[in-house]
Amino acid sequence: MSQCEHKWVYSRSDSYWSFCGRNSREYYHADYYFCEKCLDEKVVVKRHSCYDSELWKLPHWAKIITNQI
Ligand SMILES: [Zn+2]
Repeated sequence: MSQCEHKWVYSRSDSYWSFCGRNSREYYHADYYFCEKCLDEKVVVKRHSCYDSELWKLPHWAKIITNQI
């Protein structure tokens, strides 16, 4: 059986932030992709934690997350 040469297509994203411990926050962003040939799925996850007082240091992808859990 030959291996699929995956052709990844963007599917959806999931992102949120939450308070984590004292005065700090954790940001989470996941991009989901599926292979249009075999329908396999992969996910690319980014995480970042940050103090409340240092929000200006956040990377751009985290700054735009407004969904709090
Ligand atoms: Zn595939």
